[in-house]
Amino acid sequence: MIQFNRRRLVGLILVLVFAFTIVAFAAEFVGSAKSTVYHYPSCVWAKKISPKNLVQFSSAKDAQQKGYRPCKVCKPPAQD
Ligand SMILES: [Zn+2]
Repeated sequence: MIQFNRRRLVGLILVLVFAFTIVAFAAEFVGSAKSTVYHYPSCVWAKKISPKNLVQFSSAKDAQQKGYRPCKVCKPPAQD
């Protein structure tokens, strides 16, 4: 009985980790309202963007549809 519960717990944890991974990838890129370049949030240039100008993108396609292009420093993907 205890083993059964542990398995369920491990399964639940795996589902949660999976869900968090998807959420983390959902807000994948950022850009500045004052530029037309999108970055990985970890990019040195992304960190220079003022919070009031920060634009978030859920995907490369999302960024490109809004007129942004990939950063040449952090090289985010041009396609999903
Ligand atoms: Zn960048």
